[in-house]
Amino acid sequence: MTKNYDVVVIGAGPAGYVGAIRCAQLGLKTACVDEWIGKHGAPALGGTCLNAGCIPSKALLESSEFFERIRHGGEAHGIVAGDVGLDVGAMIDHKDKIVRELTGGIETLFKANGIEWIQGHGQLLPDRQVRVSVPDGGEQTLSADNVILATGSAPVAIDAAPLEGNRIVDSAGALNWTEVPQRLGIIGAGVIGLELGSVWRRLGSEVTLLEAQDVFLSMADQQLARTSLKLFGKQGLDIRLSACVKSTRVTDTAVELEYEDPQGTHALSVDRLIVAVGRRPYTEGIASPETSLLYDEGSFIHVDENCSTNLPGVYAVGDVVRGPMLAHKGSEEGIAVAERIAGQSSTVNYETIPSVIYTHPEIAWVGKTEEALKKAGVACRSGVFPLTASGRARAMQQTEGMVKVLSEADTDEVLGVHILSAHASELIGQAVIAMEFESSSEDIARTVFAHPTLSEALHEAALYVDRRAIHIVNKKPS
Ligand code: NAD
Repeated sequence: MTKNYDVVVIGAGPAGYVGAIRCAQLGLKTACVDEWIGKHGAPALGGTCLNAGCIPSKALLESSEFFERIRHGGEAHGIVAGDVGLDVGAMIDHKDKIVRELTGGIETLFKANGIEWIQGHGQLLPDRQVRVSVPDGGEQTLSADNVILATGSAPVAIDAAPLEGNRIVDSAGALNWTEVPQRLGIIGAGVIGLELGSVWRRLGSEVTLLEAQDVFLSMADQQLARTSLKLFGKQGLDIRLSACVKSTRVTDTAVELEYEDPQGTHALSVDRLIVAVGRRPYTEGIASPETSLLYDEGSFIHVDENCSTNLPGVYAVGDVVRGPMLAHKGSEEGIAVAERIAGQSSTVNYETIPSVIYTHPEIAWVGKTEEALKKAGVACRSGVFPLTASGRARAMQQTEGMVKVLSEADTDEVLGVHILSAHASELIGQAVIAMEFESSSEDIARTVFAHPTLSEALHEAALYVDRRAIHIVNKKPS
């Protein structure tokens, strides 16, 4: 017998599960279909973000930074740590425990909200029917007034480096090693490459990142990208730009790579290799061909500005649609779609979605880069405040980095804020709120910030836009 729902969500990652909870809050009878099997063999909610992405990587980033600070961060504070041991297995167990607690938390929220969790592989059929199949061959069909497709993304694979056991892995594989590889290679110096490279370098690996582009972090403001490249180099990350991997060979003892750069062909031998060259929407077989669901280039599901597909009552949110592949972007789309299904007129402001790279220092930004504004012919003013001039940053021994505020030349509206700093991921929220309210740099400059805090660097950068920062010498615009 076909079960009927107001909404069936396919995918329980941060786009799908958040959308499902919002649907249920609005009184809609909701089911969420998901096929994820967790590390220990049991079905798990939360998708990549909770099981194999944001949360486990942040747990390991935190643990590895803790280790590094204990080993090297104490001297200036008069703390001598002596010999510090490392139990990578226990670190991985700690990470797994956090994942279990959080995925279990979503299960609790589903129960509390009356959402039915249906385990299995979902596929959209015509007329908003959803077929759910399970590995043992079982199958059921659901029927819904509305379907939300939220099946997320998967790592991009490259022919030059096919995955192989524990030796050549993708981002998920690199979260479960129980010993530290001595020599670690990473293909791709993007968000994942830098985060995982930071984890394993702190734990003791010699890390080499091979990046095909000639520009480091092309999506970030280049003033911050250039500074961070130098900082990461000093930390010991060997980042080689314009390096295109041609082949890999796994031997008994190593992974042998061949890559090309403008100087020629080079060989590199590593113990382990991570492939982190981007993610692609996970949409194969998401809809049966009879549905005529429309796709964009790159297998993204085609949607309008409100995440409606070409099929009435069928929506798509998160990594399967255009826009940045970010958990928080997907969650907001899930919420907006749930509210639109319930008759409200919610939208997502795509102009104010923050990006964060969880290196140390962290890199976070919202809005446009200086390069993008120049390219678009938008005249802007810029205020930059270095962390060396922040009292709190000095007390924390965290003086690397800067805050940069960009505002429109005539109106002074803030168009972008870029932060390279400890805790940039937290600081950027202030800039997001400012931009959400269409603040000017003058609005931020007139706001009272607590002293001494890192947030004062945002205040000072906003003051610098008008060349009236207090704690550095203001130079005339060049
Ligand atoms: P990415 O696009 O950030 O970086 C991939 C890098 O690999 C790029 O710099 C690209 O030039 C390079 N590359 C591609 N092919 C290559 C090749 N053959 N040889 C060498 N370099 C090559 O992708 P990612 O780091 O894999 O992350 C995937 C997605 O997941 C991104 O959209 C990212 O935003 C998201 N993500 C976000 C976070 C976060 O918000 N902190 C964390 C992890 C992942």
